[in-house]
Amino acid sequence: MTINILFAAKTERWDSYEGPLTKALTQALSQTGIDFDLRTDFAPAEVDYIIYAPNSPVQDFRPYTRLKAVHNLWAGVEGVVHNDTLTVPLTRMVDHGLTQGMVEWVTGHVLRHHLGMDAHIHGQDGQWRSDVPPLAEDRPVTILGMGALGQACAAALTGLGFPVSGWSRSAKTVPQVATHHGYDGLQTALSTAQILVLLLPDTPVTTDILNADTLAELPRGAVVINPGRGPLIDDTALVAALDSGQLSHATLDVFRAEPLPADHPFWAHPNITVTPHIASATREGTASQTIAENIRRGEAGEPFLHVVDRALGY
Ligand code: NAP
Repeated sequence: MTINILFAAKTERWDSYEGPLTKALTQALSQTGIDFDLRTDFAPAEVDYIIYAPNSPVQDFRPYTRLKAVHNLWAGVEGVVHNDTLTVPLTRMVDHGLTQGMVEWVTGHVLRHHLGMDAHIHGQDGQWRSDVPPLAEDRPVTILGMGALGQACAAALTGLGFPVSGWSRSAKTVPQVATHHGYDGLQTALSTAQILVLLLPDTPVTTDILNADTLAELPRGAVVINPGRGPLIDDTALVAALDSGQLSHATLDVFRAEPLPADHPFWAHPNITVTPHIASATREGTASQTIAENIRRGEAGEPFLHVVDRALGY
């Protein structure tokens, strides 16, 4: 038996994925007696699985009449989760490379602000600034979103000695992390956050979660780091909080419009750092193994990994 697997992402991604996916699928299906055909084009009615990026031309899933599942290459699914033409299971990407990249980016930007590196990098003006930064143990960090990425970042930061609080939708226990959940828990989580990291998905409930009211819950002079999604922040409230001194800095990797337009005020704001959605990315080698394992599971009748809850939107 042969299964047909459609790779539906931007054309340039095929060059980097074809080899790793072929290798991972060959390995994952080796004991099953199932062959596969992996391509960027098929007649829709012949496709069993779609390996998918939400910016692919495939937006109407109705012609894919024998489709068994769609495996998203990205962690974020806001670009596909509300697509009513998709009626089969949707999985999202949880990948070692994606997680490790995020851990490194978040740790680096937390340390930048914790150590006050900018004063020394930009302040080479003959002034002997001898203020010693506090230890990590005296710098509380809060992470909104205690999923795959939030928990991995929390582990790295607690390993460095930061007191970490985490916030999620459901209650959870995470080693060495003070966890909170629900709307009441949000206020508590924000109240101690000298550095706030956003690792929530973009859903109808999380839109503008950081707004004038919630920004006011932070300690004065807090730093916001957003590698989650742009709509998590009310941009007008963010700029007002920076201008009033309620926030001292915002490091933003994600935006409501990407690429961020060249004339967007964020670029020129002295207390905003823009990075161009590079906090992390799916890595072909490890991501291909996750997808191949999910296709093996589909053929074996086993539950898929990392299934998206369509009602919750993540
Ligand atoms: P995940 O495993 O699904 O975790 C999401 C977390 O957010 C969970 O802890 C979840 O709570 C929490 N959450 C969701 N809705 C909530 C709500 N209404 N109130 C409170 N907490 C809520 O996702 P992930 O893999 O960690 O990824 C997180 C996000 O990072 C992605 O959705 C994507 O937008 C972003 N991302 C960005 C980049 C980049 O390069 N900038 C790269 C990868 C991912 P529960 O635990 O209770 O479910």
